[in-house]
Amino acid sequence: MIRHPLRVFVGSLSHETNSFSPLPTSLRAFEADLLHRAGDPATLAQAMAFPAYGDAIEAGRARGHEIIAGLCAWTQPSGPLPGPVYERLRDELLADLSAAGAVDLVILVLHGAMMSDDHDDCEGDILARARALVGPGIPIGAVLDLHGNLTAQMIDSATVVIGCKEYPHTDYRARVDELYDLLERTARGEIAPRSVFRRGPVVGPIGTTEDPMRTFVQSLTQREGSDGILSVSMMHGFPWSDSADTGTASLVVHDGSRADLAVAAAEDVLGRFVEISAAMSAGRTRGIDQVLDEAEQLHPSTGPVVIADGADNPGGGAACDSTFVLRALIERGIGDAALGMIWDPQAALIAADAGVGARLPLRIGGKVGPMSGAPIDAEVEVLAVRHDARQKGLTGTLSEPLGLAVAVRVGGIEVVLNSIRQQVFSPECFTALGIDLSRKRLVVVKSTQHFKAAFAPVAGAVLYCNAPGSLNMDLSALPYTKLVLPVRSAETRGRADPGIKRG
Ligand SMILES: [Zn+2]
Repeated sequence: MIRHPLRVFVGSLSHETNSFSPLPTSLRAFEADLLHRAGDPATLAQAMAFPAYGDAIEAGRARGHEIIAGLCAWTQPSGPLPGPVYERLRDELLADLSAAGAVDLVILVLHGAMMSDDHDDCEGDILARARALVGPGIPIGAVLDLHGNLTAQMIDSATVVIGCKEYPHTDYRARVDELYDLLERTARGEIAPRSVFRRGPVVGPIGTTEDPMRTFVQSLTQREGSDGILSVSMMHGFPWSDSADTGTASLVVHDGSRADLAVAAAEDVLGRFVEISAAMSAGRTRGIDQVLDEAEQLHPSTGPVVIADGADNPGGGAACDSTFVLRALIERGIGDAALGMIWDPQAALIAADAGVGARLPLRIGGKVGPMSGAPIDAEVEVLAVRHDARQKGLTGTLSEPLGLAVAVRVGGIEVVLNSIRQQVFSPECFTALGIDLSRKRLVVVKSTQHFKAAFAPVAGAVLYCNAPGSLNMDLSALPYTKLVLPVRSAETRGRADPGIKRG
């Protein structure tokens, strides 16, 4: 018998690990970004704004469940976690689950591409240990970022795994509701979910806002609810994490009534995804000069040309202080441009201390390591200073702290420097500092794809620039040591590799 209301444990430990990132991942980094310990009122609001975790708590309460909220820990993508850091956070999450006592459902908000020095598949490890704690009879659901690299241990340990479908990741609430539906039906004994997944090659990141990917995502939803198919996810994978499981994967959760159709769906979904991503990534490997040549030819009437410097996106583990694109803009004498944000707390502090209106020589960016390029020494004018700047995140709330943010003019380019390493999600990064994007010809953002959700209304055109950096799109040049699945470079097209079969 199931108690009413259901007792639901919700917890989260999330990191997108970039094996090639120059930045280490410390406990301090979690404390600085998001480390909510169960019941701590000081960090509760921040945790509730964290996508999927807050959604799982709100959705559960809306369904009348009793929610036991555990750890919520996240930090900006960076290198593999040191073993003791990972184990401390993992064990804290599991201790919260254990302390919750008898629960009816477990919901874990994980990433899917988290690696430590000792564990290539942290999520599989967490789910296996959670399963060992609650036993075989309690439904465990996991929500993953579609940039996770799916593993057999995750699938074998959880009852239902669901990846978000959208990139930008705007659909976590919908996925959490979907997960509750399936877990509640499982708890009532109406279904016994099974999973089938198929693996494909390693591909670069592709957004879901434009066709043919837009229609592809809709086709995933259309497959759900018939032929015994309960849920369909397409994991894009995270190519910069180096493990034997790195790659794309389709995932079909089904009720066992038509396993043959579930297998066929998994194979078809993967094949179509690989084909579409190859076609859509063509052109994503164009370098700075090619992209600036095109940008200078474009004159959209609806807004500036927005150039994505995805190779330096901190949201994938890059340093966020590279100077390659800024240097090219300066050398070309391009004015009417804005560029942000360069993570340079030192330069931001010097400019802030000099004050608005000051002119001074400043060394900008290029500090973290070789992938950041050389710093730029320039005479700058300080245009604006904010000590507690924020931007809207993917949830649409003004929740993402930017720390100290300063706008400086370098030649004709207005550059945002800030103290908290974060990608550009929305125009507030610029507009809060008085930079009017509608008056710019070019806007350069350090983001791969997430910026598109909020920049759609202001961008006249979007170009993707493959500058040097930690997230350079030339995946075939990465120094992988553990990869098993093939890398599909941006220019090659074709069907998915057969990959690893799993029933
Ligand atoms: Zn992601």
